[in-house]
Amino acid sequence: MKQLGPIPAGYEAVDGVLAIAGKPVTHWVDQAGTTPLFLYSADHVRQRVADLRAAMPDRLALHYAVKANPFPRLLSLMTQLVDGFDIASGGELEIVRGAGVPLDAVSFAGPGKRDAELEAAIRAGVTLNLESEGEAARALAIAERLGVTPRLAVRVNPDFDLKGSGMKMGGGAKPFGVDAERVPALVRTIRESGAEWRGFHIFAGSQALDAEAIADTQAQALALAAKLAEDSGAPLPHCNLGGGLGIPYFPGDTPVDLPLVGEKLAEQFASLPDVLAETAFCIELGRYLVGEAGVYLARIIDRKESHGEIFLITDGGLHHQLAASGNFGTVVRRNYPSAIATRFDVPVEEESSIVGCLCTPLDKLADKGGFPRAEVGDLVAVFCAGAYGASASPASFLGQGPAAEMLV
Ligand SMILES: *Cc1c(COP(=O)(O)O)cnc(C)c1O
Repeated sequence: MKQLGPIPAGYEAVDGVLAIAGKPVTHWVDQAGTTPLFLYSADHVRQRVADLRAAMPDRLALHYAVKANPFPRLLSLMTQLVDGFDIASGGELEIVRGAGVPLDAVSFAGPGKRDAELEAAIRAGVTLNLESEGEAARALAIAERLGVTPRLAVRVNPDFDLKGSGMKMGGGAKPFGVDAERVPALVRTIRESGAEWRGFHIFAGSQALDAEAIADTQAQALALAAKLAEDSGAPLPHCNLGGGLGIPYFPGDTPVDLPLVGEKLAEQFASLPDVLAETAFCIELGRYLVGEAGVYLARIIDRKESHGEIFLITDGGLHHQLAASGNFGTVVRRNYPSAIATRFDVPVEEESSIVGCLCTPLDKLADKGGFPRAEVGDLVAVFCAGAYGASASPASFLGQGPAAEMLV
């Protein structure tokens, strides 16, 4: 039997069935009228934001990285909870606009912004996190043509990375941001152009669980921001310290020690150099805010035995939950947390694999896990599905189409 990842805290059974917002998921599936279904809990997101606010210094604003989950109803909820939004494309700009997000609280990072995307963002009053000198020149030319004062920040390619991070975004040669030593010259160009100078964006990595490593990275980002502000000869209005807080997905993963991160950051804030005395700080988080608030539900449509192994074949699969399948076999596959949702209070009875409906052996949601004995018609749940599920899986693969989504 292979281990499953840890089910996030707060999920319980009602009448033997996995419950969300106090009701069994069968109730929500009936309401949606279909499976597969991504079910997101508003209360879970609210609690997560409240925990963050309680742990972090008041001076730290909280931004949501939209790419983790751009479901419009979730974005509307977020407008009540966070201080800003980070987008990464013109498409996301249209999504946040449609969801009623205040656009002056939006910043736009990402390499390869097209002229049309820069123009839409400048017109909307969105802050551009500039990724290169070339992009800065294009943005300034577009703003001049439009007769609009652009709001410009510089994304810094830091000379460090986030240790233990699942995805390194800084340190060495990178397509993201401007190398630290070239930043002061670019800041001077921006300020001399008459643009509204917004400050730095320093993002060093994602999916870190080690609080000490996160705190170290934040301290390094603050030191770098101070040095670059000094070297640019300008006060720093704003500094986005990046994010990187991860969630446990796999056996052995443990949650981030949030109070420790908060304490260390408060210590840093208590002894900031003069050049950062007036700076407003934020962090930008995606999966930490919404990942554990979502569950992916699929229905078992066949139960098969092959050479002594049991396969629970569902109507879902990697086309909705690519990461749970192991990204098309490109990584060593480990099991996400998963369960038989309709037998949530039943102990382990057998070893079985939960698979999807695609004709590829990679389409596995859980490999040789310990589960109650499940039958055709039961629902399976894959946890940690609130981020990078619906929006980051190949929904059109094999003509399957997207799953339903619901916020309750
Ligand atoms: C993807 C991304 C995020 C969000 O990452 P999470 O791991 O979901 O928190 C934040 N900032 C930037 C610049 C990103 O590219």
